[in-house]
Amino acid sequence: MTEPRWNRVVLKLSGEAFAGDQGYGIDGETLRMLAGEICAVRNDLGTDIAIVVGGGNIWRGQIGAGEGMDRAQADQMGMLATVINALGLQEMLEQMGQPTRVQSAVHMEQIAEPYIRRRAIRHLEKGRVVILAGGLGSPFFTTDTPAALRAAEIDAQAVLKGTHSGVDGVYTADPKLDPTATKLTEVSYMDVLNKGLNVMDPTSITFCMDNALPIVVFDVTAAGNLRRVLDGDGAVGTLVR
Ligand code: UDP
Repeated sequence: MTEPRWNRVVLKLSGEAFAGDQGYGIDGETLRMLAGEICAVRNDLGTDIAIVVGGGNIWRGQIGAGEGMDRAQADQMGMLATVINALGLQEMLEQMGQPTRVQSAVHMEQIAEPYIRRRAIRHLEKGRVVILAGGLGSPFFTTDTPAALRAAEIDAQAVLKGTHSGVDGVYTADPKLDPTATKLTEVSYMDVLNKGLNVMDPTSITFCMDNALPIVVFDVTAAGNLRRVLDGDGAVGTLVR
């Protein structure tokens, strides 16, 4: 085994990364590819990996709220969407021989363990991939904040924000709107906040800044990228610190 850059990380996977080109729901091939990338780094590098999964490929609270729903109710639907993705990812990882546990911040003991910090750490120490579902269990958040919070709780050394749809890092401006936009290799938390750069929710950026947790924003759907990030290849993605 080569020495990885970090021994324990939280990987944030947006629900949309599960949808592939269809843009909605779970695409089997895409899920297989993502699971393969995760298994490879777990096996080859021995990195402890906890994965916080989003739910935007199925439901987002803001959409419901925008159509007149009660925001908290709509967000609870979003939290359930993350559980669906977590179970799908678990199934694919286990089919590949990777032991996993799903822990949910929303209690549903028939299908997932409750989130218990010490137990999550124990699973990681035993080489299991821990999939964290249900966000924080509270409305008015997205899954970016639990990615940051859980990373601090379980002593992870970095948050890896996996993007999709060709987004390969943080840009000076939106490259789809501004042809002069350039990709940043590294950027500070303060610049992300002050310039409103599209990285993660400001709440999670502030949390990472306060707790000195680096973030790598990278395209998780490009084969080998997760491995390259853990190998310390600075050309992949953008480092926020
Ligand atoms: N959500 C929530 N609290 C949390 C995490 C998520 O209420 O702590 C809800 C919220 O409605 C959100 C949805 O779950 O829109 C899906 O999560 P997210 O938007 O983070 O998914 P992603 O964009 O990563 O696919």
